[in-house]
Amino acid sequence: MKINGVKLRHNKNTAGCETLELPVPEKVVISMGQSMGKACGPLVKKGDHVYVGTKIGDSDHIMSCPVHSSVSGTVTGITERLRANGSVCKAVEIESDGRQELDPEIKPPDIHDKKSLCEALRESGCCGLGGAGFPTHLKLNYNEESTSVDTLIINAAECEPYITGDDREMIENGDDVIDGIALVMDMLHIEKAYIGIEDNKPQAIRNMMEKAAQYDNINVRTLRSSYPQGAEKVLIYNLTGRTVAEGELPSSQGVIVMNVSTVGFIGAYAKTGIPLINRRVTVDGDVVSTPCNVKVPVGTAISKILKFADADIENAQKIICGGPMMGICIYDRDLPLLKTNNCVLAFKKPEKKKNELLESDQTACIRCGRCIKVCPMGLMPTYLEKAYDSGNKKRLERLKVGLCINCGSCSYVCPAKRPLAEKHQLAKELLRR
Ligand code: SF4
Ligand code: SF4
Repeated sequence: MKINGVKLRHNKNTAGCETLELPVPEKVVISMGQSMGKACGPLVKKGDHVYVGTKIGDSDHIMSCPVHSSVSGTVTGITERLRANGSVCKAVEIESDGRQELDPEIKPPDIHDKKSLCEALRESGCCGLGGAGFPTHLKLNYNEESTSVDTLIINAAECEPYITGDDREMIENGDDVIDGIALVMDMLHIEKAYIGIEDNKPQAIRNMMEKAAQYDNINVRTLRSSYPQGAEKVLIYNLTGRTVAEGELPSSQGVIVMNVSTVGFIGAYAKTGIPLINRRVTVDGDVVSTPCNVKVPVGTAISKILKFADADIENAQKIICGGPMMGICIYDRDLPLLKTNNCVLAFKKPEKKKNELLESDQTACIRCGRCIKVCPMGLMPTYLEKAYDSGNKKRLERLKVGLCINCGSCSYVCPAKRPLAEKHQLAKELLRR
């Protein structure tokens, strides 16, 4: 596999910003659809009292994991809410009492083998914090008889511009990160781990090397800063030389990949039993006066987070949840924060420089081939776009649109400003239907 990629301006303006705490919001709206699986059903009703960490939603769907309250207070209603991806699901509204009392039932989990680790992680509501939201207990619950995993890869590349949450996790919570890695390796009998960090995070690299020195089977590997270095298949190839084929899971190549903030959470959870109720969020963008990293209770309105960072919300023309390459533009600034959100960016309308084309200045493809050159998956984005436009499903399959990781590199380099990555997402949806 040939790994391509693009050089982006990093804009890691908040790399040196110690994580702040958002004041407890008066109200949170906690979506029942927080991870990749089916949305949970609410376990509480209007008028119920909840603590910090009380389980408020669950589902027996295999891909789902429970949802917990991020504040203590009273449930004021169960509503239907539109999510950033356009789907509708139930949400629990909770009015905070400001006391942030921890649920008295919470205690550190008893983890002594793989089964108890997976059960505990399910109860914690942990899902991949890199953005995809794949339930962690499912990722680790592979069949040991048919699958042999020898390598744990910790994805600490954080290759998207602006986002510095993983960087801060390694600097501020290095002990939890190492403890989480050691716990997973121990319970799953994994021989070695690599922590892959891009070379634009020198402090995190130093800190993790220091912490990992006590283990001879946990190694820190410095990676070249190149986008999308943190894409799962790219990372596996660059760290182990192994190639994950179409339709295969990394475990079929003896590898499990976990995000560094996920293992940091696991390390902390094993000690406290406090479920996943907060996220470290990077807030940045040209209308944000005080870019920062801030710990936010899940369910807090995005507008509240932006206000905390002194953003000029009225002049924000584009608000993105996630990084500028793979994040989702949101239409409603009061959408509540999800477990999987690691960044909020707000930008004003771009000023057009002389001879510069903006996204809105789309022209016909000039067949320059740049999109093909940068695709990390070796795809042909321009042909994929044409196949989608003509509704040719067979051709989309032949061109392997399913391998597209939606990194956005093709759209980024296209001089004709074609919306290639967007079309590929739509094409995948077309095939799914
Ligand atoms: S969005 Fe898909 S097609 Fe475009 S560069 Fe990334 S992987 Fe390739
Ligand atoms: S980069 Fe844009 S203009 Fe160039 S071949 Fe691809 S789609 Fe066409």
